[in-house]
Amino acid sequence: MDVASLSPRKRLLFDISFIGMLVGLPGLTWYFAISFVHYDAALVWPGAAFWSHVEPPSAASIGFYLLWIGFQALLAVLLPGRAVEGSPLPDGRRLDYKLNGLLALGLTVAAAVAAVGAGMVSAGTLYDEFGALVTTTNLVVMLGCVALLFVARGQANEQERRLNLLEGYTVGACRNPRIGGFDLKFFCESRPSMILWVLVDLSLAAKQFELHGSVSNAMLLVCFFQILYVADYFYFEDAILTTWDIKHENFGFMLAWGCMVWIPFAYSLQPLYLVAHPEPLPWWGATGVFLLNAVGFYIFRSSNLQKHRFSSDPMEPIWGEKPDFIQTERGSLLLTSGWWGIARHSNYLGDWLMGLAWSFNCGFGRLLPYFYPIYFAVLLIHREWRDSKHCAAKYGRDWDRYTKKVRWRIIPGIY
Ligand code: NDP
Repeated sequence: MDVASLSPRKRLLFDISFIGMLVGLPGLTWYFAISFVHYDAALVWPGAAFWSHVEPPSAASIGFYLLWIGFQALLAVLLPGRAVEGSPLPDGRRLDYKLNGLLALGLTVAAAVAAVGAGMVSAGTLYDEFGALVTTTNLVVMLGCVALLFVARGQANEQERRLNLLEGYTVGACRNPRIGGFDLKFFCESRPSMILWVLVDLSLAAKQFELHGSVSNAMLLVCFFQILYVADYFYFEDAILTTWDIKHENFGFMLAWGCMVWIPFAYSLQPLYLVAHPEPLPWWGATGVFLLNAVGFYIFRSSNLQKHRFSSDPMEPIWGEKPDFIQTERGSLLLTSGWWGIARHSNYLGDWLMGLAWSFNCGFGRLLPYFYPIYFAVLLIHREWRDSKHCAAKYGRDWDRYTKKVRWRIIPGIY
């Protein structure tokens, strides 16, 4: 987001909204934690009694989280990995990255299982510490982003140096802040966030077992779907380097908080709900959510792969045929075959269908377990709109040709 080039009035409005986000976003994570743990996920009005449940950081939550970040950083640095170059930056440079996320995920899960097996920690501990961890991660990210601001300001370009301190803190003072060769955005986007999401899910399933003596099919399904999502993310780790966040976003509080707090503690709301709801899904319900997730996963993975493979080999057949594309004046190619000929972002549709399948595991008793697909629909519609604006500015008339040829934005025939 290029805040520095906005008009003074628009910029002031953005600055006010940033202050709102800095206060409101942590509040939202507390709301969910309290509602799900103390009010059975009811959509309650948050009065004084409600907020009295906000948990301060505990010694265990602080110790765990600092060790967690250190452990993940060590794995990222020390484990062997494939060395790759990122996409070209606006100044033509390409940054080096090391890809070892899948190994880090596997070793972390193995270490957690070993720690539980050795009696060092109880399997349900991330549930027991859920509230304290929400507070701790919010505080660590808020304070860490102050340090990040100083690191990033030292590496900012001329345009980025026009951001004031609030803007630099919130949207990020530069695009790819690094300490030595260690890329802070690439690390925080995936390692302490996506891998923690997996551990939180496993701990919630363990808590259901501890409380009810069994793990329901709904809990097994939602954990399987979400762990598959994370494993797939790391299996195709090089595809992360071509995402909007890595290529175009600066790294500040918004991205750091979104990854390190929001992902592990808001994306795990369905299993959190199921801890107190061990009722099994009927066989037809379980089959339905399994099929919905499978369809979503297929659309999501195959569409992302089509674009990714096309970018390295434009001649590789798609659905058995030579791909169609638009040659742009800038030199890049816009794919119009396969999923990319059906809609401009079929990948978003697949991703959303998976989110819906995760929530269906929770039945229809409450609205809040459906927060994720509702929020995600808004996020993806906004993201598509922003990406379209960016591409229209980048490709000009070629983008118009593309949008005439591929009419639908996300859902063919509907939107
Ligand atoms: P995309 O992977 O769709 O990338 C968009 C970029 O691709 C555009 O900016 C453009 O970049 C290029 N592009 C667009 N159309 C074409 C085309 N027809 N042919 C060739 N290149 C094209 O978007 P995102 O990075 O937003 O998303 C990646 C995945 O991550 C998605 O599946 C999404 O669902 C998922 N996601 C998940 C989130 C979550 O919280 N779970 C959050 C956000 C995303 P350029 O012009 O630079 O080539």
